[in-house]
Amino acid sequence: MAVNGMYKLMEQFAVHDGPGMRLIVFLKGCNLRCKWCQNPECIEYKPQLWYNKLRCKDEGQCVEVCSEGAISMDKDNKFDLEKCNDCFKCADVCRPGAFEVIGREISSDDLVKQILKYKFFFSRSKDGGVTISGGEPTFQSEFTADVLSQLKKEGINLAVECNLFSKYEKIWNVVQYCDYLICDIKHMDSDKHKAETGAPNERIHENIKKLNKDFNGKAIAVHIPLIPGWNDDEENIAKTLEFVKPLEKIARIDLLPFNLLPVSKYTAMGMKWEYAGIQGQSQEHLQKLINIVDKYGGRFAHTVGGLW
Ligand code: SF4
Ligand code: SF4
Repeated sequence: MAVNGMYKLMEQFAVHDGPGMRLIVFLKGCNLRCKWCQNPECIEYKPQLWYNKLRCKDEGQCVEVCSEGAISMDKDNKFDLEKCNDCFKCADVCRPGAFEVIGREISSDDLVKQILKYKFFFSRSKDGGVTISGGEPTFQSEFTADVLSQLKKEGINLAVECNLFSKYEKIWNVVQYCDYLICDIKHMDSDKHKAETGAPNERIHENIKKLNKDFNGKAIAVHIPLIPGWNDDEENIAKTLEFVKPLEKIARIDLLPFNLLPVSKYTAMGMKWEYAGIQGQSQEHLQKLINIVDKYGGRFAHTVGGLW
Protein backbone atom coordinates (compact mmCIF):
# COMPACT_ATOMS: atom_id res chain seq x y z
CA MET A 1 0.00 0.00 0.00
CA ALA A 2 1.28 3.46 -0.92
CA VAL A 3 2.69 5.66 1.87
CA ASN A 4 2.48 9.45 1.87
CA GLY A 5 5.58 11.59 2.29
CA MET A 6 6.82 15.17 2.01
CA TYR A 7 8.83 15.94 -1.10
CA LYS A 8 10.59 19.03 -2.46
CA LEU A 9 11.81 18.34 -6.01
CA MET A 10 13.98 16.28 -8.33
CA GLU A 11 17.25 17.45 -9.87
CA GLN A 12 18.48 15.87 -13.10
CA PHE A 13 22.02 15.41 -14.43
CA ALA A 14 23.62 15.35 -10.99
CA VAL A 15 27.17 13.97 -10.80
CA HIS A 16 27.92 14.44 -7.11
CA ASP A 17 25.77 12.22 -4.99
CA GLY A 18 26.67 8.77 -6.29
CA PRO A 19 28.28 7.33 -9.42
CA GLY A 20 27.27 8.06 -13.04
CA MET A 21 24.52 10.44 -14.06
CA ARG A 22 21.91 10.60 -11.34
CA LEU A 23 18.47 11.86 -10.54
CA ILE A 24 18.50 13.37 -7.03
CA VAL A 25 15.22 13.34 -5.15
CA PHE A 26 15.04 15.85 -2.30
CA LEU A 27 12.70 14.98 0.56
CA LYS A 28 11.67 17.33 3.36
CA GLY A 29 12.08 16.72 7.08
CA CYS A 30 15.22 16.30 9.16
CA ASN A 31 15.99 15.18 12.72
CA LEU A 32 19.06 17.44 13.05
CA ARG A 33 19.28 21.24 13.00
CA CYS A 34 22.75 21.94 11.61
CA LYS A 35 23.37 25.65 11.80
CA TRP A 36 25.23 25.68 8.48
CA CYS A 37 22.66 23.53 6.63
CA GLN A 38 22.98 23.95 2.85
CA ASN A 39 19.36 22.91 2.25
CA PRO A 40 17.34 24.88 4.81
CA GLU A 41 14.23 24.45 2.68
CA CYS A 42 14.41 20.70 3.36
CA ILE A 43 14.64 20.75 7.16
CA GLU A 44 10.96 21.15 8.11
CA TYR A 45 8.46 18.42 7.34
CA LYS A 46 5.88 20.78 5.87
CA PRO A 47 5.30 23.04 2.84
CA GLN A 48 6.97 26.44 3.29
CA LEU A 49 6.83 29.91 1.78
CA TRP A 50 9.61 30.99 -0.62
CA TYR A 51 10.12 34.50 -2.02
CA ASN A 52 12.20 35.31 -5.10
CA LYS A 53 12.75 39.07 -5.20
CA LEU A 54 13.99 39.00 -8.80
CA ARG A 55 10.53 37.97 -9.93
CA CYS A 56 8.65 40.54 -7.85
CA LYS A 57 6.96 43.29 -9.91
CA ASP A 58 5.75 45.35 -6.92
CA GLU A 59 2.10 44.64 -7.72
CA GLY A 60 1.16 44.33 -4.04
CA GLN A 61 -1.68 41.76 -4.20
CA CYS A 62 0.25 39.76 -1.58
CA VAL A 63 0.07 42.63 0.94
CA GLU A 64 -3.70 42.95 0.46
CA VAL A 65 -4.43 39.26 0.87
CA CYS A 66 -2.26 38.65 3.98
CA SER A 67 -4.56 38.68 7.02
CA GLU A 68 -1.56 38.53 9.40
CA GLY A 69 0.11 41.74 8.19
CA ALA A 70 3.20 39.67 7.51
CA ILE A 71 4.11 41.17 4.11
CA SER A 72 5.63 44.54 3.22
CA MET A 73 6.57 46.17 -0.10
CA ASP A 74 10.24 46.13 0.92
CA LYS A 75 11.78 43.53 -1.40
CA ASP A 76 14.71 42.99 0.95
CA ASN A 77 12.46 42.30 3.96
CA LYS A 78 9.44 40.95 2.18
CA PHE A 79 7.79 38.79 4.80
CA ASP A 80 7.95 38.24 8.54
CA LEU A 81 8.32 34.55 9.27
CA GLU A 82 7.20 35.09 12.89
CA LYS A 83 3.83 36.44 11.79
CA CYS A 84 3.26 34.06 8.86
CA ASN A 85 0.69 31.29 9.43
CA ASP A 86 1.49 29.31 6.26
CA CYS A 87 -1.87 30.01 4.62
CA PHE A 88 -0.07 30.55 1.27
CA LYS A 89 -2.72 32.98 -0.02
CA CYS A 90 0.11 35.28 -1.12
CA ALA A 91 1.49 32.55 -3.38
CA ASP A 92 -2.00 32.00 -4.84
CA VAL A 93 -2.40 35.67 -5.85
CA CYS A 94 1.20 36.45 -6.85
CA ARG A 95 0.94 36.70 -10.66
CA PRO A 96 4.71 36.93 -11.42
CA GLY A 97 5.38 33.89 -9.20
CA ALA A 98 7.66 35.70 -6.74
CA PHE A 99 5.95 33.85 -3.88
CA GLU A 100 6.02 30.06 -4.18
CA VAL A 101 5.32 27.15 -1.90
CA ILE A 102 8.23 24.74 -1.42
CA GLY A 103 7.30 21.13 -0.65
CA ARG A 104 4.17 19.06 -1.05
CA GLU A 105 2.74 15.79 0.09
CA ILE A 106 3.01 12.97 -2.42
CA SER A 107 2.30 9.23 -2.32
CA SER A 108 5.17 6.80 -2.75
CA ASP A 109 3.45 5.36 -5.82
CA ASP A 110 3.16 8.78 -7.47
CA LEU A 111 6.77 9.66 -6.71
CA VAL A 112 7.94 6.36 -8.22
CA LYS A 113 5.89 7.08 -11.37
CA GLN A 114 7.54 10.49 -11.67
CA ILE A 115 11.03 9.07 -11.15
CA LEU A 116 10.51 6.38 -13.78
CA LYS A 117 9.79 9.06 -16.41
CA TYR A 118 13.52 9.89 -16.23
CA LYS A 119 14.80 6.32 -16.35
CA PHE A 120 15.90 6.69 -19.98
CA PHE A 121 18.41 9.37 -18.97
CA PHE A 122 20.02 7.97 -15.83
CA SER A 123 20.04 4.34 -16.97
CA ARG A 124 22.20 5.21 -20.00
CA SER A 125 25.19 6.29 -17.95
CA LYS A 126 27.41 3.62 -16.36
CA ASP A 127 26.28 3.05 -12.75
CA GLY A 128 23.84 5.98 -13.07
CA GLY A 129 20.69 5.89 -11.03
CA VAL A 130 18.66 7.59 -8.33
CA THR A 131 19.87 9.18 -5.08
CA ILE A 132 17.41 10.01 -2.32
CA SER A 133 18.54 13.08 -0.39
CA GLY A 134 17.04 15.77 1.80
CA GLY A 135 16.58 16.73 4.52
CA GLU A 136 17.01 13.31 5.99
CA PRO A 137 15.47 10.41 4.03
CA THR A 138 15.18 8.20 7.14
CA PHE A 139 13.08 10.87 8.87
CA GLN A 140 10.21 9.47 6.76
CA SER A 141 11.60 5.96 6.74
CA GLU A 142 8.44 4.07 5.66
CA PHE A 143 7.88 6.39 2.71
CA THR A 144 11.51 6.32 1.56
CA ALA A 145 11.72 2.55 1.95
CA ASP A 146 8.57 2.05 -0.13
CA VAL A 147 9.94 4.28 -2.92
CA LEU A 148 13.30 2.48 -2.89
CA SER A 149 11.82 -1.02 -2.81
CA GLN A 150 9.72 -0.22 -5.89
CA LEU A 151 12.74 1.26 -7.73
CA LYS A 152 14.85 -1.76 -6.76
CA LYS A 153 12.36 -4.02 -8.57
CA GLU A 154 13.01 -1.89 -11.69
CA GLY A 155 16.73 -2.73 -11.46
CA ILE A 156 17.76 0.88 -10.77
CA ASN A 157 21.09 1.75 -9.12
CA LEU A 158 20.12 3.33 -5.78
CA ALA A 159 21.90 5.58 -3.30
CA VAL A 160 20.77 7.39 -0.19
CA GLU A 161 22.29 10.34 1.67
CA CYS A 162 21.88 9.92 5.37
CA ASN A 163 22.93 11.75 8.55
CA LEU A 164 22.78 8.45 10.53
CA PHE A 165 21.05 10.00 13.54
CA SER A 166 17.80 8.02 13.22
CA LYS A 167 17.31 4.80 15.17
CA TYR A 168 19.09 1.92 13.43
CA GLU A 169 15.85 0.15 12.47
CA LYS A 170 14.68 3.23 10.55
CA ILE A 171 18.02 3.52 8.78
CA TRP A 172 18.20 -0.16 7.87
CA ASN A 173 14.62 -0.02 6.60
CA VAL A 174 15.92 2.38 3.91
CA VAL A 175 19.53 1.39 3.38
CA GLN A 176 18.83 -2.31 2.75
CA TYR A 177 17.72 -1.45 -0.81
CA CYS A 178 20.73 0.71 -1.72
CA ASP A 179 23.85 0.14 -3.78
CA TYR A 180 25.57 3.13 -2.20
CA LEU A 181 25.25 4.77 1.18
CA ILE A 182 26.52 8.33 1.51
CA CYS A 183 26.70 9.50 5.10
CA ASP A 184 28.08 12.43 7.05
CA ILE A 185 30.58 12.29 9.87
CA LYS A 186 30.49 15.85 11.06
CA HIS A 187 32.53 16.05 14.26
CA MET A 188 34.36 13.56 16.50
CA ASP A 189 33.71 15.59 19.69
CA SER A 190 30.20 14.86 20.89
CA ASP A 191 29.70 18.13 22.82
CA LYS A 192 30.78 20.19 19.83
CA HIS A 193 28.58 18.06 17.59
CA LYS A 194 25.59 18.75 19.82
CA ALA A 195 26.28 22.49 19.99
CA GLU A 196 26.16 22.90 16.22
CA THR A 197 23.74 20.19 15.04
CA GLY A 198 21.40 19.87 18.04
CA ALA A 199 22.39 16.25 18.80
CA PRO A 200 25.38 14.30 20.17
CA ASN A 201 27.34 11.98 17.88
CA GLU A 202 27.38 8.64 19.76
CA ARG A 203 24.38 7.11 18.01
CA ILE A 204 25.73 8.21 14.62
CA HIS A 205 29.03 6.47 15.31
CA GLU A 206 27.32 3.31 16.57
CA ASN A 207 25.09 3.25 13.50
CA ILE A 208 27.97 3.48 11.06
CA LYS A 209 29.75 0.60 12.82
CA LYS A 210 26.59 -1.53 12.56
CA LEU A 211 26.15 -0.59 8.90
CA ASN A 212 29.73 -1.59 8.22
CA LYS A 213 28.68 -5.12 9.25
CA ASP A 214 25.22 -5.24 7.68
CA PHE A 215 25.38 -3.16 4.50
CA ASN A 216 25.35 -5.41 1.46
CA GLY A 217 25.56 -2.76 -1.26
CA LYS A 218 28.68 -1.74 -3.18
CA ALA A 219 30.24 0.93 -0.97
CA ILE A 220 29.79 3.43 1.82
CA ALA A 221 31.03 6.99 1.22
CA VAL A 222 31.67 9.42 4.05
CA HIS A 223 31.06 13.11 3.55
CA ILE A 224 32.82 15.57 5.83
CA PRO A 225 31.20 18.99 5.39
CA LEU A 226 33.99 21.41 6.32
CA ILE A 227 32.57 24.10 8.56
CA PRO A 228 34.94 27.02 9.26
CA GLY A 229 36.24 27.08 12.81
CA TRP A 230 34.10 24.15 13.91
CA ASN A 231 35.31 20.86 12.39
CA ASP A 232 37.83 21.86 9.70
CA ASP A 233 40.94 21.65 11.89
CA GLU A 234 43.60 19.03 11.21
CA GLU A 235 43.02 17.32 14.57
CA ASN A 236 39.35 16.62 13.90
CA ILE A 237 40.00 15.36 10.36
CA ALA A 238 42.80 13.09 11.61
CA LYS A 239 40.50 11.69 14.34
CA THR A 240 37.76 11.10 11.78
CA LEU A 241 40.14 9.15 9.54
CA GLU A 242 41.32 7.05 12.47
CA PHE A 243 37.70 6.29 13.35
CA VAL A 244 36.73 5.13 9.85
CA LYS A 245 39.98 3.30 9.03
CA PRO A 246 38.89 -0.09 10.45
CA LEU A 247 35.46 0.10 8.81
CA GLU A 248 36.29 -1.76 5.62
CA LYS A 249 33.08 -0.97 3.73
CA ILE A 250 33.88 2.73 3.80
CA ALA A 251 35.50 3.13 0.40
CA ARG A 252 35.68 6.89 -0.04
CA ILE A 253 35.99 10.17 1.83
CA ASP A 254 34.69 13.40 0.35
CA LEU A 255 35.86 16.65 1.93
CA LEU A 256 33.20 19.26 1.19
CA PRO A 257 34.52 22.84 1.39
CA PHE A 258 32.20 25.38 2.95
CA ASN A 259 30.29 27.54 0.51
CA LEU A 260 28.14 30.61 0.94
CA LEU A 261 25.60 29.90 -1.80
CA PRO A 262 22.82 28.87 0.62
CA VAL A 263 22.58 32.43 1.90
CA SER A 264 20.11 33.17 -0.90
CA LYS A 265 17.95 30.24 0.23
CA TYR A 266 17.82 31.54 3.80
CA THR A 267 16.86 34.99 2.50
CA ALA A 268 14.14 33.52 0.27
CA MET A 269 12.66 31.78 3.31
CA GLY A 270 12.71 34.87 5.51
CA MET A 271 15.40 33.32 7.73
CA LYS A 272 18.65 34.73 9.10
CA TRP A 273 21.77 32.59 8.54
CA GLU A 274 24.46 32.91 11.15
CA TYR A 275 27.09 31.70 8.65
CA ALA A 276 26.34 34.54 6.20
CA GLY A 277 29.60 36.27 5.25
CA ILE A 278 31.89 33.64 6.80
CA GLN A 279 34.85 32.78 4.61
CA GLY A 280 35.39 29.24 3.32
CA GLN A 281 38.65 27.31 3.58
CA SER A 282 41.73 28.55 1.73
CA GLN A 283 43.38 26.30 -0.85
CA GLU A 284 46.37 26.03 1.44
CA HIS A 285 44.27 24.79 4.36
CA LEU A 286 42.37 22.33 2.14
CA GLN A 287 45.69 20.91 1.00
CA LYS A 288 46.67 20.21 4.63
CA LEU A 289 43.41 18.28 5.09
CA ILE A 290 43.91 16.39 1.82
CA ASN A 291 47.40 15.43 3.01
CA ILE A 292 45.86 13.82 6.10
CA VAL A 293 43.63 11.61 3.93
CA ASP A 294 46.60 10.84 1.64
CA LYS A 295 48.52 9.47 4.62
CA TYR A 296 46.22 6.43 4.45
CA GLY A 297 48.02 5.42 1.27
CA GLY A 298 45.11 4.70 -1.03
CA ARG A 299 42.91 3.08 1.63
CA PHE A 300 40.20 5.58 0.60
CA ALA A 301 39.23 7.06 -2.73
CA HIS A 302 38.80 10.72 -1.95
CA THR A 303 37.72 14.02 -3.45
CA VAL A 304 37.40 17.63 -2.53
CA GLY A 305 33.86 18.58 -3.47
CA GLY A 306 32.34 15.12 -3.85
CA LEU A 307 32.46 14.68 -7.64
CA TRP A 308 32.16 10.92 -8.41
S1 SF4 B 1 1.53 32.62 3.74
FE1 SF4 B 1 2.18 33.99 5.39
S2 SF4 B 1 2.87 35.84 4.33
FE2 SF4 B 1 1.61 34.67 2.84
S3 SF4 B 1 -0.47 35.47 3.05
FE3 SF4 B 1 -0.33 33.72 4.43
S4 SF4 B 1 0.29 34.59 6.42
FE4 SF4 B 1 0.68 36.17 4.86
S1 SF4 C 1 21.54 16.74 8.71
FE1 SF4 C 1 21.75 17.67 6.67
S2 SF4 C 1 19.67 18.31 6.11
FE2 SF4 C 1 19.63 17.91 8.30
S3 SF4 C 1 20.01 19.91 9.20
FE3 SF4 C 1 22.01 18.87 9.03
S4 SF4 C 1 22.88 19.56 7.09
FE4 SF4 C 1 20.66 20.04 7.05
